[in-house]
Amino acid sequence: MADLKPLDLIDVDALFTDEERQIRDLAREWVHDRILPQVDDWFERGEIPSRELAKELGQLGFFGMQLPGEGYLGAVAYGLVELELEAGDSGLRSFVSVQSALAMFAIHAFGSDEQKQEWLPRMASGDAIGCFGLTEADSGSDPGSMRTHARRDGDDWILNGTKMWITNGSVSDVAIVWATTEEGIRGFVVPCDVPGFSAPDIHKKLSLRASVTSELVLDEVRLPAGAVLPGVVGLKGPLSCLNEARYGIVWGVMGAARACFESSVNYAKERVQFGKPIGAFQLTQKKLADMALELNKGTLLAYHLGRMKEQGTLRPQHVSIGKLNNTREALKIARTARGIHGANGITLEYPIMRHMTNLESVITYEGTEEVHTLVIGEALTGLRAYA
Ligand SMILES: Cc1cc2nc3c(=O)[nH]c(=O)nc-3n(C[C@H](O)[C@H](O)[C@H](O)COP(=O)(O)OP(=O)(O)OC[C@H]3O[C@@H](n4cnc5c(N)ncnc54)[C@H](O)[C@@H]3O)c2cc1C
Repeated sequence: MADLKPLDLIDVDALFTDEERQIRDLAREWVHDRILPQVDDWFERGEIPSRELAKELGQLGFFGMQLPGEGYLGAVAYGLVELELEAGDSGLRSFVSVQSALAMFAIHAFGSDEQKQEWLPRMASGDAIGCFGLTEADSGSDPGSMRTHARRDGDDWILNGTKMWITNGSVSDVAIVWATTEEGIRGFVVPCDVPGFSAPDIHKKLSLRASVTSELVLDEVRLPAGAVLPGVVGLKGPLSCLNEARYGIVWGVMGAARACFESSVNYAKERVQFGKPIGAFQLTQKKLADMALELNKGTLLAYHLGRMKEQGTLRPQHVSIGKLNNTREALKIARTARGIHGANGITLEYPIMRHMTNLESVITYEGTEEVHTLVIGEALTGLRAYA
């Protein structure tokens, strides 16, 4: 069995190009050296050095690398980087996803030339951090019910409302804020230092603790006419950004799953009970085999969706299949890993419970398990069950 790799039994690795493997290895090495030695402390303290990491991630070229242009290596290369970042921590991957796939993508896809020039280079280098404000306290799965409102005042816009659960909120330089207007839902590029804007943090989280989550409060925020994203009106604006970010999650969660699986294989070989390693018991082997199957299948699915994205055939329903399957299976893998590690599984000495609780957020954000199930149900039947 020497030729089989436990972390990649069916050799998905052979499908990647040399260039993809190189960027994957760069991300893996950086996470190993820079993130893994500290992430437990960040998680325990409920903080992450966002500014420092932003600079490093910018230098590595990991911000906006899925956008066509300089540094674009393809959707699979981008996905592999997301996977490696989330093998570190879902909070780290969320930081990069929100910056790249929500904030930068919104400006890239729908912004004016001025907005692109002002923000995209600084965000790519990590000199500016961005967030994406869609959700509100009473408006989650149904974003069309949002109350944040923008009204015109001469050429200016005046924004009022409160966004909730916003990743990177209080550390951001720029917020993409979605608001209702007389014309329909519009996106606004809001510099975070404008009068009337504040971003109090949400505390007491038991998940994604190594990630900043905030409210965005907009109290009579006055913005010039040029602050609106000119390229889109309506919910398709935020939904297409979410689709871009969900694609990264399809890959990312396989990183969290791999970390839990790898730790489980090692633990099962080392932990001795009843005079032999627990990995020698059939029940443990079944758990490991089931974890390996889902890890391999999920990575293969991510790869397939990645090539479809590169070929321009990826549709939102495909992304729902990947997000639902891979997040659900990653969470199952993390929970099984928790059991294999026994009492040790509940501590930060092992990465298991950290990943497990993180994945409880990932299965909720960017479309809940139920919403993606209903998107697939609609694709199968032509009947819409979620509204
Ligand atoms: C850590 C974290 C970070 C986040 N970051 C961001 C961010 O950066 N920007 C942002 O805008 N948002 C962010 N979110 C918000 C996230 O996108 C929402 O939590 C998510 O959309 C779900 O909304 P909700 O929590 O209000 O749940 P609800 O929509 O109230 O759902 C509650 C339950 O009801 C179910 N449900 C709802 N509608 C239906 C239906 N039609 N049929 C069946 N079941 C249904 C849901 O599936 C869920 O199980 C973040 C959330 C978390 C936890």
